[in-house]
Amino acid sequence: MEVLYRSTRTPEGTVTASQAILKGLADDGGLFVPQQIPHLDVTMEQLAGMSYQETAYEVMKLFLTDFTEEELKNCIAKAYDEKFDTKEIAPLKKEDGAYYLELFHGATIAFKDMALSILPHLLTTSAKKNHVENEIVILTATSGDTGKAALAGFADVPGTRIIVFYPKNGVSPIQEKQMVTQKGKNTYVVAIRGNFDDAQTGVKKMFGDKELAKEMQESGFQFSSANSINIGRLVPQVVYYVYAYAKLRAAGELAENEPINVVVPTGNFGNILAAYYAKNMGVPIAKLICASNDNKVLYDFFQTGEYNRNREFILTTSPSMDILISSNLERLIYKIAGEDAVKNAEMMKSLTTEGKYEITPKMRERLQDFTGGFATEKEVSDEIARVYQDTGYVMDTHTAVASCVYHKYQEQSGDQTKTVIASTASPYKFTRSVMDALHKDSKNMTDFELVDELSRISGVKVPAAIEEIRTAPVLHDTVVETAEMKNAVKKILGVK
Ligand SMILES: *Cc1c(COP(=O)(O)O)cnc(C)c1O
Repeated sequence: MEVLYRSTRTPEGTVTASQAILKGLADDGGLFVPQQIPHLDVTMEQLAGMSYQETAYEVMKLFLTDFTEEELKNCIAKAYDEKFDTKEIAPLKKEDGAYYLELFHGATIAFKDMALSILPHLLTTSAKKNHVENEIVILTATSGDTGKAALAGFADVPGTRIIVFYPKNGVSPIQEKQMVTQKGKNTYVVAIRGNFDDAQTGVKKMFGDKELAKEMQESGFQFSSANSINIGRLVPQVVYYVYAYAKLRAAGELAENEPINVVVPTGNFGNILAAYYAKNMGVPIAKLICASNDNKVLYDFFQTGEYNRNREFILTTSPSMDILISSNLERLIYKIAGEDAVKNAEMMKSLTTEGKYEITPKMRERLQDFTGGFATEKEVSDEIARVYQDTGYVMDTHTAVASCVYHKYQEQSGDQTKTVIASTASPYKFTRSVMDALHKDSKNMTDFELVDELSRISGVKVPAAIEEIRTAPVLHDTVVETAEMKNAVKKILGVK
């Protein structure tokens, strides 16, 4: 059955999947959503015997219905290959009474690789299908991980250029080093003096800038987005929740149709929304537990029904979750508003003008699938140390937020449902914060001394992504004010 996409902000008009991927954001500033979420057309028993790539095909074919089988299988084969350091692509580790779904075995050791290794191929295929002649310019704001994963995905892909903006003091030293050493003739990295929300707002403004679009068009360029608002990011993320459930069934960990809970360390709300889509496709998921750090705007939202970004922005040790405007939440708001684009648009307008909105009691009733929790900095650090002491397993700070929230939820609710925790980054990506939790003398050690020490205590080999940057030269050193982002883009592209 054909699935078309429409904007969350305008009641009429639809586009195909490939058009939605190409555009990224709808013209009205809304996000593209599928007209209906398709239901899996294979059984869990069939899925239990499938590889990651085969599962990806079974899930993605239902969303990207204007791609041919050959096109889609080709994209999947190019994405999920030796760039991942394990054949399973997304292995599950049973530790400390939960299942950690490790989503960090790709090129940049964070879960963004799961989607960003396939997005460039979905995008260039979409361009061909729609006879696009312009060069595609990927414009991305990053809180750390998206940037590197997008750079790695798009580097030297013909017909594309990529420009990444990141907050100068808002990412980890290793994240920054990973980005500024990026190779590739078509890659550009720009630091801004501001936080992630400033970067994201600046990028969104450029997407909505009609004059800029015209100037770009005249020079043979058009923008597209690699941010998690692109439906081409969201759909590949649904895959690993289907895969995880099927593998747990295959391993005999779950009875037939036995429900699981899923805990997701959340920032922009993309990953957890993908789990919600998986649930709507028929995967037996009971609760979706949204885990926040000290920037607990989502926790408060699930608690009160009011989304309010008017608060202090806190820099934490889980920087990829330091976000006050969770863009993908709009897709959920639209859904619980009864797919009412007008009502959703009103709320998003209020978010822009007042910095907040409140959902109706009826909408709150439709949020039963979700519950929110948060972990403070001390709790995160204690959780890393506790799990290591109990099991020898070392997790990164983001995963620790989720792990901590899971245990707090379990204690408060008494819910004993088996639980999958989305493990979103390798501890090597946040070595210093992880080692601060585990090692008395970390303050006196360099980043790379800590990397070696982490390898010694965890028994996990240093990933290639980290080895590479030990000696790599800095290739990008541009820093601009937030207000100068547009000029930086024009300069890079040579657009007047
Ligand atoms: C991006 C990211 C998150 C947040 O994911 P969202 O889809 O934005 O909610 C969590 N952890 C890590 C390590 C990330 O890179």
